[in-house]
Amino acid sequence: MNTCKKILEISNLSVSVENKVIINNLDLVINTGEIHAIMGKNGSGKSTLAKVISGHPLYSIDKGKILFKNKDITYEEPDVRAHDGIFLGFQYPVEVPGVSNIDFLRSAYNAKKTHLKEDILDPLSFFKLVNKEIEQINIESKFLNRSLNEGFSGGEKKKNEILQMSLLQRELCILDEIDSGLDVDALKDISNKIKNFHKPYNSILLITHYQKLIDYIKPTHVHIMHEGNIKISGNQELATEIDKYGYENIV
Ligand code: ADP
Ligand code: MG
Repeated sequence: MNTCKKILEISNLSVSVENKVIINNLDLVINTGEIHAIMGKNGSGKSTLAKVISGHPLYSIDKGKILFKNKDITYEEPDVRAHDGIFLGFQYPVEVPGVSNIDFLRSAYNAKKTHLKEDILDPLSFFKLVNKEIEQINIESKFLNRSLNEGFSGGEKKKNEILQMSLLQRELCILDEIDSGLDVDALKDISNKIKNFHKPYNSILLITHYQKLIDYIKPTHVHIMHEGNIKISGNQELATEIDKYGYENIV
């Protein structure tokens, strides 16, 4: 079990892409067991922040530091960060024709097991495990045999990200707009799964536009991002104010 209180500590982080500053002097601390939500207008830098934490190579870090469980990961490779315990659920999951969803999920799962020097699962045992998981988010098992994300509906893509999160059991899960494009039922399924997944020993960073997800998940902290920086931090009430008055009147 992770006994480190501060799981993520970002300080003075500035990031640019093609010489344009996108993250500007940002600080953020997430402790073990907390759920943080980041809200903010389109283009405020939320997805960039998510990708930078998980190590996307496109972005150059101009200054600042990212510590994960007290280890400096600012320039660490994405696969090392994943093995260290960071998961990113993408805003726009990529379609990969020709790669079966279940093969992909099993490779990711077994890569983690191998890294931990634990036994990997054969296809049948993995099929049993994954079937239990998909029942909880209301997806049919035939969806496992299709190509990864290819032709998946918006909701199915998001559910597949949640399925990966649940199988991989990382300590910090970043979910970028996991709620966008979902119907009411799918939003409930996903929210319930996130709530069940959350434990005192893991942490979640949700990026969202919507009050509804915040009402379901009840994050411990809510932040408003604006022009690459966290301008205001508070609790769930902040999300209610944004819903009422809009970003323009708050930041
Ligand atoms: P958000 O998720 O808050 O909507 P993003 O992080 O996606 O915002 O984008 C923040 C800003 O950075 C936007 O102006 C966007 O156009 C720019 N940006 C992000 N990624 C890239 C990229 N790969 N190339 C060029 N500009 C980018
Ligand atoms: Mg985004």
